[in-house]
Amino acid sequence: MAIDFTPSPEQQALQAAARAFGRDVLSQVRAVIAPLAKPEDRFFATQPFYAQMAQAGFVHALFPKVYGGGGMSTLDFALAAEELTAVDINVPTTLLATGLGMEPILGFGTEEQKRRWIGEILAAPGERLAAFAFTEVTGGANFDCPDPAAGVQTLARREGDEWVISGQKHYTTNGSGWDGRGAHLMTVVCRTDLTRPPSESLSVIVVPGATPGVEVKGYLDTAGHRAVCSPRIHFNEVRVPVGNLLGRPGDGEAICWHAFSWTAALIGAACTGVMRAAFDIAFAFAKNDKRSGAVPVIEHQNAGYMLVDLKMRIEAARYLTWKACHQLDLSERSSDELAIMTKIYASELCVQVVYDAMRLVGIDSYTDLSPLSGLMQDALCFPLYDGGNMGVRRRQLHNKFRAPGYDPMAASQAR
Ligand SMILES: Cc1cc2nc3c(=O)[nH]c(=O)nc-3n(C[C@H](O)[C@H](O)[C@H](O)COP(=O)(O)OP(=O)(O)OC[C@H]3O[C@@H](n4cnc5c(N)ncnc54)[C@H](O)[C@@H]3O)c2cc1C
Repeated sequence: MAIDFTPSPEQQALQAAARAFGRDVLSQVRAVIAPLAKPEDRFFATQPFYAQMAQAGFVHALFPKVYGGGGMSTLDFALAAEELTAVDINVPTTLLATGLGMEPILGFGTEEQKRRWIGEILAAPGERLAAFAFTEVTGGANFDCPDPAAGVQTLARREGDEWVISGQKHYTTNGSGWDGRGAHLMTVVCRTDLTRPPSESLSVIVVPGATPGVEVKGYLDTAGHRAVCSPRIHFNEVRVPVGNLLGRPGDGEAICWHAFSWTAALIGAACTGVMRAAFDIAFAFAKNDKRSGAVPVIEHQNAGYMLVDLKMRIEAARYLTWKACHQLDLSERSSDELAIMTKIYASELCVQVVYDAMRLVGIDSYTDLSPLSGLMQDALCFPLYDGGNMGVRRRQLHNKFRAPGYDPMAASQAR
């Protein structure tokens, strides 16, 4: 068995196509959203870019060929994602959030459920968004707390052939849809019985955004990821058929881990893309700018060494991401330790790399003379979202390490 990091001709073509899409299309996003004060207006303004991304096949790529998708592996998605996020974080994150919203269906849906909801998204891929409604307005960190009185409080009570859902979520990326009236569908993390522990009650139910009782209450304004939609969504006695439950009551925790392992690995690619953008800016500055000195900044040893350190860290994050994605693909997600580690490692590295790029460029990096301060705002999101690195360490990795029979070599050797 060879260990081979050489992208195939198809993968090289994918990278080249994604790079061209970034250069020709996504490079325009920043100028379009910059003058817009309201977060929802910035998000809505990215719809034409998302539509072009769908036209280029990236929404289809989320789904297996058997359901009409492009069947892109997680590894191939990472190759494309790095190219896209090196140019713009917003539109690729909207795509990632559609993927996150659909992951519970892909992982735990019946054949009929998969065909139906994937088919609906693919019928209008540039217009229909999916969203994962996980985070409660009271916090997400303790969603799986074994105490029935704590954790997720969004309740789905059974009434005849329907679930009646009540609760309040926020940060439901894409949850507003493009018209502010609700995403095409949301996979909603809820409890089917607030007196039973999560192992018996935590569930995920599919809710079409147009269902009466779904209310988009407003939008959070984020420091970075400026055109990513972070709405607050209220579920006011929302009625959906019992057949919209994915798996069984109590499967909710496994569904969340399944969905978050996919995003965790791909966030490694997004971090690599943002680090690459920061490096390119610092590198061009060091090569071309003398800062009123006699020679370009790169001729100074400290600047050269800093660039070397930046580049090394980017390379390390890239190959860890590839390995984590490859392993998710090989193991059908059962081996997720590297994916989670990639999310933590690459996101914390990204903040450090962008900061070091700013140190290299100096004070102009803190102003509108340079895109670096914007990249820093984007980078700060990575360790905080997708479960938050503190939470991911605690709930996923620490729990794995504590489990009887944990094998420290399993993550790197899994096939
Ligand atoms: C751009 C963006 C996109 C997002 N997309 C989505 C999305 O699509 N869907 C969605 O549902 N959410 C989304 N989120 C929210 C995101 O996933 C959060 O990271 C997640 O909900 C958990 O946040 P938190 O860990 O800060 O939790 P909180 O519950 O707010 O916790 C706050 C702090 O308290 C600490 N804490 C709480 N309890 C404990 C404990 N028991 N032990 C130790 N420390 C504790 C946490 O570690 C954390 O540091 C998004 C956020 C952003 C910014």
